[in-house]
Amino acid sequence: MENTNKYYAGIDIGGTKIAFGVVDENRKLLISRSIPAGAGRPFEVIVKEMADTVKIVAADAGIGSDRIAGVGIGVPSTVDPKTGRVVFANNLGWRDLDLTGEFRKHWDIPVYLENDADCAALAESMEGPAAGKNVLVITIGTGFGGGLILNGRIFKGGDNSGFEPGHSALVFEGEHCTCGLRGCTEAYTSVTALIRQTREKMEVHRDSLMWRECGGDLEKVDGKTSFCAAKKGDAAAGEVVRDYIEYVSAGIANLVSLFRPQMVIIGGAISAEGDYLLEPLRKSAGSRIYAAGILPMPPLQKARLGNDAGIIGAALLGAVPPSPSVTPAGGGSTAPEMGNAG
Ligand SMILES: [Zn+2]
Repeated sequence: MENTNKYYAGIDIGGTKIAFGVVDENRKLLISRSIPAGAGRPFEVIVKEMADTVKIVAADAGIGSDRIAGVGIGVPSTVDPKTGRVVFANNLGWRDLDLTGEFRKHWDIPVYLENDADCAALAESMEGPAAGKNVLVITIGTGFGGGLILNGRIFKGGDNSGFEPGHSALVFEGEHCTCGLRGCTEAYTSVTALIRQTREKMEVHRDSLMWRECGGDLEKVDGKTSFCAAKKGDAAAGEVVRDYIEYVSAGIANLVSLFRPQMVIIGGAISAEGDYLLEPLRKSAGSRIYAAGILPMPPLQKARLGNDAGIIGAALLGAVPPSPSVTPAGGGSTAPEMGNAG
């Protein structure tokens, strides 16, 4: 019997890699793959490579490109889903680009665009413990992205320009951020920031185990260097990790005080640290929220879908009705209205 099921392709653009995947009508990820982002290359070259790669990935899953009903793209930026344009992507250096139009030059198919963290939030909120809840999903990688599901919808802000918690000020006149502002939460809490903090500490502590972790080469420091050395008892690495967690907890506590989500989910590359990160983070964030000790800190969990949340959420953009630009003001149903992908 001929298989007439529909499939949806998702592309998750990150600062260092671009991930591809295909999901079926039951939101199951059938295949995923990633390639280096090659940021800095011309926009047109990157988009052509994306279109070529997503077709190859679908073919490798045994799905002809004619069975793909749509392609969703998660971009680490402010996007306009209605026009399909990227408004501003600080970590990619993209500004006012017609991503949808450029993609469709290579593959004429329905294309959907959303902020990457919103995609992750959408995927995480559709099943599992976060289903039906007002949930805040924080994605920590090259940046500090956030997606907020309120009353079953992606919170887009009043003028559809999104939710950018990474660019709220954490330190007055602090570190320069890639967005052009100073002291942004992202400039202290992203993996990029963690790498900077690790290098700074290593310069002062020449005997730290962190030097062995990165083969004695500051250029090879990554987001795991300090965590690996700290787990082995290195004091300087322990300080890097402790300070980093304090920054992340302050960023999250601000969001909890503002929106009082019923659950906080941490995704992105940093979530691989699991409870070594989450345990102190829960404690620290819980002490920083408004009315700490009176109002509870919402449960803080690792992303259920891990790094796949972004791809799955992007793919689901083609399978769920578009979210409105403004969320209903209170009293709305808390059931996920975009729950049925079929
Ligand atoms: Zn910023």
